[in-house]
Amino acid sequence: MNNDTILDNIRAMHEANEPLSAFCQFPDDVIPQPVTARHMGAKDYFSREKGLFGDAYSNIITMLQELGAKAYWRDTYAGTQISDRFMDQFGCYSLIGKNGFFHSTTMNAWMVYMPAGLYYPWHQHPAEEMYLCLAGEAVFKKQGSEDVTLQQGGIALHQSNQPHALETQKHPVLCYVVWRNELNTPPILTYENAK
Ligand code: FE
Repeated sequence: MNNDTILDNIRAMHEANEPLSAFCQFPDDVIPQPVTARHMGAKDYFSREKGLFGDAYSNIITMLQELGAKAYWRDTYAGTQISDRFMDQFGCYSLIGKNGFFHSTTMNAWMVYMPAGLYYPWHQHPAEEMYLCLAGEAVFKKQGSEDVTLQQGGIALHQSNQPHALETQKHPVLCYVVWRNELNTPPILTYENAK
């Protein structure tokens, strides 16, 4: 799959979703950049995953699985108190942004994958964030709100530095995640985790 096709697919998915487009207009300054593939455990879980139910985004899921072989899988929480299991199983690579397939000055975009039964502890970042659930199911938690279970097409919005967490139960989840503003400040685990 060439860069134009990949970008067209991402843009089409993004622009077809009203809340996402309202949150962050798909940028017009997106340019391809070289990616050095880096393997993480989650790449293997993702490539073998059979539990991502929901076919609304099946073309995107296929693309993300293909890109998984070439992607720079991230280890965002290396060196923190996060569990070894999380480091092995939590999957994330950048589509648009640092170490991603593309660059833009106004938006970062990632895929996030979690196998069933994984907890992504409370964390925060100054960037505002929107999740689009592509397949599977997860419980989205954020400070000041009731927990919400999302499936394909579901949206979660996180304000600047609003602590949030994510948990898969019986099913895995795959999401498309977008940041706007403060693109270069990485997430940190929220203080309560350390207690
Ligand atoms: Fe976040």
